[in-house]
Amino acid sequence: MPTTDAHPKTIPLPQFDHQPRPYDGPTRDEVVALRRQYLSPGLITYYQEPLMVVEGKMQYVFDETGRRYLDAFAGIVTVSVGHCHPKVLKKVRQQQDTLQHTTTIYLHPTIAKFAEKLAEKMPQSSGGVSGGDGGPLDKTYFTNSGSEANELAVLSAREHTGHHTVIALRNGYHGGTAATMGLTAHGTWKFKSNQFPGVVHTHAGYCYRCLYDLEYPSCGLKCAHDVKDVIEYQTSGEIAAFIGEPIQGVGGAVVPPEGFFEIVYQIVRDHGGLCIADEVQGGFGRTGHHYWAHQNWNVQPDMITMAKGIGNGAPLAAMTTTADISQAMANRIHFNTYGGNPVSVTQGLATLEVIDEEGIQENALQVGTYLKDALHELQNKHSLIGDVRGLGLMLGVELVKDRQTKEPAKAECAAVVERAKQMGLLLGKGGLHGNVIRLKPPMCITKDDADFIVAVLDECLTCC
Ligand code: PMP
Repeated sequence: MPTTDAHPKTIPLPQFDHQPRPYDGPTRDEVVALRRQYLSPGLITYYQEPLMVVEGKMQYVFDETGRRYLDAFAGIVTVSVGHCHPKVLKKVRQQQDTLQHTTTIYLHPTIAKFAEKLAEKMPQSSGGVSGGDGGPLDKTYFTNSGSEANELAVLSAREHTGHHTVIALRNGYHGGTAATMGLTAHGTWKFKSNQFPGVVHTHAGYCYRCLYDLEYPSCGLKCAHDVKDVIEYQTSGEIAAFIGEPIQGVGGAVVPPEGFFEIVYQIVRDHGGLCIADEVQGGFGRTGHHYWAHQNWNVQPDMITMAKGIGNGAPLAAMTTTADISQAMANRIHFNTYGGNPVSVTQGLATLEVIDEEGIQENALQVGTYLKDALHELQNKHSLIGDVRGLGLMLGVELVKDRQTKEPAKAECAAVVERAKQMGLLLGKGGLHGNVIRLKPPMCITKDDADFIVAVLDECLTCC
């Protein structure tokens, strides 16, 4: 069993010119006690000694003592352009001083302008083969969370197609509401999927742990073709939709093999289903080459769901689809009180502007490629690293006890994450077996930050 007792080596963080404000709130211990007394035990914390974060600036966060940490997990992939980005903050403050909330039953300019901006960022058209009109993806419905956006996509698909069953990928994650837990689960996470009928799961295209024990490309993408059997033998044959993350996030940065999504989308459309791309983690330039993660796979979804990076930390999410499919939501009254409120959409619009103005997507590509190359070099040095994968700044490092058996190195992964925090680096942890280090920093990080990440990981892996 790995330990984290010994004092870790000190590796200096890159220079950064920001002085955190003095903190004079409740102590960390008092906050721990308050949480214990008043918050649901269902709220998990990372780390043996939970970290208290009281300030953030760009790619860094600060604890109550003023200690700085590199946030390589972006507050769980949420902060896209940097904590408290000055341009975003300025606009949000102005909006908060002016009007915090109206509902969508009244007009407000920013929700309309933001929807226009999102439409400009969409791929040219939807797939349009399966009952969609193939028109542009330019109708957006705003919500507060990714779960709600996915619920809305599924509801729209069911209304539009008149069918009920949804196909989702094993090892995926789509949210924490009842219906999205059903999409998520396959019994892999905390709650069991069989509590949520109407969803059938198919293979994820997880080559490193191929369930058929085959190799790409000689496998002929058996995992993708299997969706045909799944639909024909486990459903009535008529489905409402398929939902998939173009790169699985919580599942451990699982990158499907080339061609996987093209095959799955075609089979789904042959059976009347709409295709939903869950871009909650992969969207907004994070994967580097493309603005949307699904564009890496040469497919056109009928619906795109977004959250997290869309608002750089604001509770903001959205589902965008075609005029034809969006009409399904006009059949009855459906209402989301806070969805599209002026403060959140101001933050969203400002975030998208910063992504463009500051070359954030290009930075994700440059620094992401640099970091991934360095992680591959680290793999040559540490046998614990079984796989390095991902695109842009959505990377995963899967730890195994043995490269032949691929036995998940779960305790080692937890120890690395723990020790990295002691050294000033915040990492994510995920994957089906909890053995994947997830690297998804704010997309403003520099090559110096990437060097820091690699140096810290090197040290942590040496100690495990
Ligand atoms: N989809 C994906 C791919 C996610 O990673 C998440 C959150 N981790 C969600 C949906 C759910 O988003 P939220 O927590 O905002 O409801």
